[in-house]
Amino acid sequence: MPTIAPHFHLLAKPAGAACNLGCKYCFFLSKENLYGERESPLMDDAMLETHIRQLMHASPGPQVDVAWQGGEPMLRGLDFFKRSIELAERYRQPRHRTVLHTMQTNGTLIDDEWAAFFKQHNYLIGLSIDGPRELHDAFRINRRGGGSFDEVIRGWNLLRQHEVDVNILCTIHAANAGHPLEVYRYFRDELGARYIQLIPIVERATPETIAYANQGWGGHRGSDRPLYKQEGSLVTERSVTAAQFGNFLNQVFDEWVQRDVGNVYVTTFDVALGSWMGQHNSCVVSPTCGNALALEHNGDVYSCDHFVEPVHRLGNLRDAPLQALVTSEQQRRFGQNKFDTLPRYCKECPVLFACYGECPRNRFIDTPDGEPGLNYLCAGYKAFFTHIAPAMETMADLIRQGRYADEIMSLPAATGAEAAG
Ligand code: SF4
Ligand code: SF4
Repeated sequence: MPTIAPHFHLLAKPAGAACNLGCKYCFFLSKENLYGERESPLMDDAMLETHIRQLMHASPGPQVDVAWQGGEPMLRGLDFFKRSIELAERYRQPRHRTVLHTMQTNGTLIDDEWAAFFKQHNYLIGLSIDGPRELHDAFRINRRGGGSFDEVIRGWNLLRQHEVDVNILCTIHAANAGHPLEVYRYFRDELGARYIQLIPIVERATPETIAYANQGWGGHRGSDRPLYKQEGSLVTERSVTAAQFGNFLNQVFDEWVQRDVGNVYVTTFDVALGSWMGQHNSCVVSPTCGNALALEHNGDVYSCDHFVEPVHRLGNLRDAPLQALVTSEQQRRFGQNKFDTLPRYCKECPVLFACYGECPRNRFIDTPDGEPGLNYLCAGYKAFFTHIAPAMETMADLIRQGRYADEIMSLPAATGAEAAG
């Protein structure tokens, strides 16, 4: 009997690590070092078809996500994505009621034709914006070192004109970490954004790589740029600190819970509410993980997009069916390790149910009693989950009573509004 694959998510890179920008914190740019300098980073048509066919075959349904990321996936060209739509329709199975096409992009290459295509096929676009101009341009720069803000906002406006669903992907780092309300209000009030994802920048380094890493990853191909790996207990100057991250989340939460519940969706808050309801809606706060894999342009499949490293390569779609890789013992162990490597400090933590030690990629500091494997962001998460607990309990209670979470906004005591004056 073949093993049935669990529900999984596969993030594919149609242009490998290639990107038209050179963002300083983007260590994904270094992943080109995994492949020969002469090898094209573009996924060819045969691999596109293999990918879509196998994805459909292995996905248990009823929804399949055809997800693209990079580097910059739009470098692969519009015809490639038109073909991916055709192939998805050809290979989808009767059990697949929904096929959701998604793309994470820097947005700088969007024009009318792309935006119309995204709308026509109901794409969900993740667009990287780090806040207003000065904060965005601190690290999100082009290859000449100039800021990318104007081009990104042009892309945002085109997506809005075409009524494409967009999720803002905002990384939190040394430059914007001290401006939580400025960033949040910019998205909500200036851009009119309704879906926001806040992603901490934690760039790990070793004593050997820290000097290079601090210069930024956006150098040119053929430089001495080392391959980024999840190793070392140093972090770059751009990385957010645990305290900054906790403070950022707390300040945005306080504003959100008093006036934006049900109107603005901040992924971290939605996921936290899920945890208070006894659900785990994101791999990073689940006891185990391993259902979010990555596909490189040449068919190589890795355990996770954050672990595209030789040791975490599961195989290649030309040699092994995707279903076998998703259900492989190596992948099962990868996912189980998230729980098995939790330090005792986490197992005894009052907010374990909402955190579960977050992502293993960030677990590189010691607990207060000296056990290795604590999350670098622990203090921030602990402060955040403790701070939001009363409001989360109130919202979870409302939902359990068949009411709506946004009713919390008419209970000032529950949102802290009275205390704040
Ligand atoms: S390693 Fe982190 S990002 Fe990857 S699947 Fe596990 S929890 Fe999710
Ligand atoms: S808040 Fe800290 S101690 Fe608690 S589960 Fe998360 S990482 Fe572990």
